[in-house]
Amino acid sequence: MSQDDLAEQKMRFMFALRSKGVTDARVLTAMETIDRGPFVKGIFTDRAYEDMPLPISCGQTISQPSVVGLMTQALDVTPRDKVLEVGTGSGYQAAILSQLARRVYTVDRHRRLVAEAKSIFDAMDLGNITAFTADGSFGLPDQAPFDRIIVTAAAEDTPGPLLGQLKVGGIMVLPVGQSDTVQSMIKVTRSETGFDYQELRPVRFVPLLEGVARDN
Ligand code: SAH
Repeated sequence: MSQDDLAEQKMRFMFALRSKGVTDARVLTAMETIDRGPFVKGIFTDRAYEDMPLPISCGQTISQPSVVGLMTQALDVTPRDKVLEVGTGSGYQAAILSQLARRVYTVDRHRRLVAEAKSIFDAMDLGNITAFTADGSFGLPDQAPFDRIIVTAAAEDTPGPLLGQLKVGGIMVLPVGQSDTVQSMIKVTRSETGFDYQELRPVRFVPLLEGVARDN
């Protein structure tokens, strides 16, 4: 691809984000800064700047950029936040978060995905991300509590341990619903007295599965 073509594709990419409702200036800047290209491998690299989910290793997917933008926007991250992401996948979402938060912890049940994502974080010099192989349904008790939690795989219900690891005043954004049909993107806000649930929009994610993957 020529430099001109690349520049045009990146311009279309930013336009698609805005037209799908990603309007937060900080989120848009983060998504302009973090190149999606390196997170997409093999035959799909040419399509990195299309607003589409794409296949990655281990039968998983890198999310659709506009969905990444909308979820990040709903998470309302501030520069002092410690954020947990469940479902590292390609590492793209974590890289976006790294631009907005103080510290990002990300976990995936596939060791290979974590290793591949880590090498991209290193190459991009994103020093505030720590990636672990673990079953993220249990969160990260050693690093808890978190100001923000984002889950990028769909559970039937909000995992209890994640609610427990959210600070008072904290926000969690996640898809919930039957895993292979349409799910809802939910925003959970923790108050002094409990949890407030807000349904945002229909989304479709790969399922949140139990345990660390056996191919590890
Ligand atoms: N956020 C990713 C896309 C995630 S795809 C990106 O930006 O590319 C969903 C990911 O969730 C997959 O990689 C899958 O392995 C992971 N996953 C599913 N169940 C999990 C669990 N219980 N704990 C941790 N990761 C899980």
